[in-house]
Amino acid sequence: MLVLEPQHVHMHQHAGDKAEALQCLINILVEDQLVTAEYLSGLEAREKQSATYLGQGIAIPHGTPQSREFILNTGVRLAHFPDGVVWDGENVIYLAVVIAAKSDEHLQVLQILTRALSKDVHELVKSATTAEQIIEILQAQPQSLVLHENLIQTDTQVDDIEDFFWNASKLLKQQKLVEPGFISQLNPKNTIQIQDDLWSISGSGYVKQPAVSIVKANQPLAFQGSTIKTLICIAENEQLDTQQFNRLMDVLFQPQVQQQLDDEQSSNQIAKLVGAETIPDWPSRNILLANAHGLHARPATQLVNLTKTFSGDLQVSVDGGSFVSAKSLTKLLSLGCQRGQRLTFIAEPDTDAILALDQIVEAVRDGLGEEVEPIEENLFLNSVLDQDNSAETEQYEITHCGIAASSGLAFGPAHVIKPKKFNYDRYAGSLKEEKEKLEIAIRTVKNTIHQYISKSASKDIKQIFLAHLEMLDDPDLIQQVHLALNHNLSAAAAWHEHIEKAAKAQEGLKDKLLAERAADLRDIGDKVLAILCNEPEVEEPEQPYILIMHDVGPSDVARLNKDRVAGILTSIGGASAHSAIVARALGIPAVVGAGDAVLNIDSHAVVLINGDTGEFEVNPSPEQIEHAIREREVQRLRREEAEKSAHEPAITTDQHQIEIAANVGKIVDTAKAVQNGAEAIGLLRTELVFMSHNSAPDELAQEKDYRHVLDALEGRPLVVRTLDVGGDKPLPYLPIAAEENPFLGLRGIRLTLRKPTLLRQQLIALLKSADNRPLRIMFPMVGRVEEWRAAKGILDEVLEQYPCENLEVGIMIEVPSAALLTPILAKEVDFFSIGTNDLTQYTMAIDRGHPILSAEADGLHPSILLLIDQTVRAAHANNKWVGICGELAADPKAVPILMGLGVDELSMSISSIPLVKAQVRHLNYAECQKLAHKALLCDSATAVRELAE
Ligand code: PEP
Ligand code: MG
Repeated sequence: MLVLEPQHVHMHQHAGDKAEALQCLINILVEDQLVTAEYLSGLEAREKQSATYLGQGIAIPHGTPQSREFILNTGVRLAHFPDGVVWDGENVIYLAVVIAAKSDEHLQVLQILTRALSKDVHELVKSATTAEQIIEILQAQPQSLVLHENLIQTDTQVDDIEDFFWNASKLLKQQKLVEPGFISQLNPKNTIQIQDDLWSISGSGYVKQPAVSIVKANQPLAFQGSTIKTLICIAENEQLDTQQFNRLMDVLFQPQVQQQLDDEQSSNQIAKLVGAETIPDWPSRNILLANAHGLHARPATQLVNLTKTFSGDLQVSVDGGSFVSAKSLTKLLSLGCQRGQRLTFIAEPDTDAILALDQIVEAVRDGLGEEVEPIEENLFLNSVLDQDNSAETEQYEITHCGIAASSGLAFGPAHVIKPKKFNYDRYAGSLKEEKEKLEIAIRTVKNTIHQYISKSASKDIKQIFLAHLEMLDDPDLIQQVHLALNHNLSAAAAWHEHIEKAAKAQEGLKDKLLAERAADLRDIGDKVLAILCNEPEVEEPEQPYILIMHDVGPSDVARLNKDRVAGILTSIGGASAHSAIVARALGIPAVVGAGDAVLNIDSHAVVLINGDTGEFEVNPSPEQIEHAIREREVQRLRREEAEKSAHEPAITTDQHQIEIAANVGKIVDTAKAVQNGAEAIGLLRTELVFMSHNSAPDELAQEKDYRHVLDALEGRPLVVRTLDVGGDKPLPYLPIAAEENPFLGLRGIRLTLRKPTLLRQQLIALLKSADNRPLRIMFPMVGRVEEWRAAKGILDEVLEQYPCENLEVGIMIEVPSAALLTPILAKEVDFFSIGTNDLTQYTMAIDRGHPILSAEADGLHPSILLLIDQTVRAAHANNKWVGICGELAADPKAVPILMGLGVDELSMSISSIPLVKAQVRHLNYAECQKLAHKALLCDSATAVRELAE
């Protein structure tokens, strides 16, 4: 980060002309060991291309990209010339800000300077006498408060104050005005009532630029003994322009504002009311900037030269931010636009500016005087989809955001499944009527189920429905309910109470329990009850839909019909929760943790979700849908390309190979994994295999399952994890007493060591199935060396009876204590497999499925990388290998870093294998090592992600 410091300001400099001034600047840079003397040629060449005069008596000399080789360290120095120096024939400068930047850091300096230049500082710059004055002129400008129509959201569904906070922060985050932690700064206790139902809240941490967002609910909400309908959320820092802020407050305290705010429905009307900048309804075009070094002074000058030839007003914004004049060099530079960001140009209607739009887009595409490498999106869309030769693509902002859980774009009608609540009277008048009602309800449900069966193509799903029919025909069930009816109970009460009793009884049957039957019983029970209580059944849409639920459990997802469910959107959950993992395995795009408001989306309203970014949109425009279809096509083609070479090894450009393996939870998926290029199974989640059985599989059933996997692998290694039950993976027939903190309780090896018979049985089944094929057994959730030794002890006993030739034994590294003890453990195990999902959860103390926090639990946090680094070092020092089997292994930003840390194997969901292999083939191992080294020194996951960009 480049900063302007007083000790870097050289006052009282003198130069007869520009050449002398440049020499003077070079002397300063050389003396401070920022550049070698040759950098002068770079400065001169740059001035020849076009003078670096910025305005207000300031120039910003810097070298050409070719002269970067003469830069020793990135830095910026300032020289004050009190007598002035003629810079470009007509303009005289008094201050030169000379930049030596190895990459694009100079854009930051430009942003600082252009903020200063938004006021008239020419005289101040000229007459300054101290370094401190110069810095004050350049930096002490208050940061203007961003108050813009795109920071206002109306008609928002909110259930509590947290929903207000979430929406307000999201608006600020989308415009990159605050960083992700901002929401943590908003405390309900600090809300201030401005007027009746108009409240404000402010937060000062994680603020990039002072700004205000406004959220108006669709109805008032009871809050602190009063009501709240509109929240003003202020993101402030010490540079906040207090005058501007006070003006806003003056408006908000006016008595009539409360009523006006209630009346105005659109964000545009509210923006006008509070004096916020509005988005002009002008014709627009947009394009991605492809210039390698962003919109720096030279291309920006070209752009200004072009826009100035038109008399009408032309404005531009970056990535949906505020618009500035496209005719002002300083305004353009203040955007700090970088390669890959999207510029949106708008033109004043009824002027010649309209004609400018096409020319501008053309000029930006051509690089504004620089040679540019077109951006991939354009390449794809142009070459593949044959889009009318235009490199530009429309930008359609998706406005809501949850957590990206399973990659892909999906849209379709919403199918909202809410937790059901039924109201009924316990007692009824007429026995005959109640019996009739019950009969009709059961018959109706049976008819519907018959329809489902005839429509469903999947055998598995048909079977589920056939089982439902059987339950409804169960004479014992009907007899019991009739008995209750004879005691004057209403049909609804008799039915519900009996179903609930039966479901509970089944749950209590411990390991003999058919737990799924309990869930099924409740499922059909609710269907009948809905009819008895006149609750309209939510119809499953005809075409593939977006399933919206509070949460989707692993078994829910496993039962989904992939052909009907286009995507999943949930209120709670995190990217590494098991429901998300199963969604990924099924290849269904998913966004999770989107807040309870999603349950209020109208059923059948069209919803668009982006499982790569976590964004979703309700009732998207036709253009957004069209864009999604194109984007999906791009993704499809990229995948198709990668699949062609899925069976080739993953070798970097400098010949470093890494093993790419698959995570599976279903036996039948092994063959699919091999087809997709898996070189091994890196994680067989046996608890998921257990879940597919209605009761605990015995030794024989297990042996059959494991044999099936090994057969399908045809000699490739199999890494099996012993049962990892507990946490968010309960096993119905292996009940665990309720725990306050299941993730910190009886889980993984802690549980199976307390049920040694179960562990022994699983180990025997594994060893018997192996037939000397490469089998790797690992124990989950090891936190103490004693646990590993105890588990290994049991395995050694079993091995005496069932010897196995080609066996390796290892542990998962998912608990920080184990990671820290790897130097000891590495001497005893054959390998480590790092479960980054849990390792992140336990290191950062964030529940992996936490609705609000899980997005902050990023496996690329340096603390996790340090633990991985330590594990790899310990393993390699003892000639042992290390794999990664958490979700991080397939994260495109993590892949080069994990490789650079020396990890030997990456194991991931099947669908990611071809893409990760393709990515590895473009990487250079030596570069990955450098990158990993830098990542270990970062202070945040955000910094690591920026590094990996
Ligand atoms: C992990 O924790 O990273 C892991 C792979 O195990 P699971 O996700 O099944 O807990
Ligand atoms: Mg785990």
